[in-house]
Amino acid sequence: MKRLLYLFFFFIPLAQGAEPLHIFVSVLPQQTFVERIGGSHVIAEALVKPGANPHTYEPTPSQITRLASADLYIRIGVPFETAWLARIQAANPQLKMLDARDGIALQPLAAHDDAEVHHDAAHSEPDPHIWTNPLLVKQMAVTIETALADLDPAHAADYRANLAALTAELDALDRDIRAELAGLQQRRFMVFHPAWGYFAAAYGLEQITIEHAGKEPNSRYLVTLIEQARREAVQVIFVQPQFSRKAAAQVAQAIDGTVESIDPLAADYFATLRRVAHVLAATAANQ
Ligand code: ZN
Repeated sequence: MKRLLYLFFFFIPLAQGAEPLHIFVSVLPQQTFVERIGGSHVIAEALVKPGANPHTYEPTPSQITRLASADLYIRIGVPFETAWLARIQAANPQLKMLDARDGIALQPLAAHDDAEVHHDAAHSEPDPHIWTNPLLVKQMAVTIETALADLDPAHAADYRANLAALTAELDALDRDIRAELAGLQQRRFMVFHPAWGYFAAAYGLEQITIEHAGKEPNSRYLVTLIEQARREAVQVIFVQPQFSRKAAAQVAQAIDGTVESIDPLAADYFATLRRVAHVLAATAANQ
């Protein structure tokens, strides 16, 4: 043990300046943004692995080990953080914590105009899925760039240049989505899990949530949803791999609609958002 400690202290000064920053984030889209801004100067890792559910995630022992030597954690407000971030901070008191939501106005989760669902206290929670609006990602990108330049001033010029490139790409994404959705008559869509609230708010759409208090709806509520879907001529229902598609399939069958699996937590951020816009436009065009 003594010898290991000696090696550890001996190695650190030699490595300084050459070692990339180790940045942990909660979800994969954040990892994409940190990698874009950090380039070769950072190693970014999302705790929630592909297909895993950020509502119930538990970090693996090897992640906990890597967190002990990480430089920065960027939280975003997904539910597992509540249970884990205090423990992670206790295991690594040096770890800097940053909140991706800084400067962003949060909206409540699953705003729904049907009075029937408003008795549920969970619906007044802030919605953590801020990355589904590219213009909010621009704000997050500034937060990331500032933090990286603080931790590693030697590469501040690179971080600034990468931020400019990412910002331009996010503006292009926003323009493409607006163009795709221009003139769209049916601006309502259904989702199992309400991950697309910021996307909907940004582009004048309305997301109608199927899950009820985070679970499958009961049969009475399912009937209400089917009636609403018919009344509002909903054509497409989004599901994501982290949640059941059973209720979505039942609604789709009843209304003769389509179920589309799109993962809001995918690392391939730009393609994912373009696909949401494309599916909404294409579904409307086919009616
Ligand atoms: Zn979620």
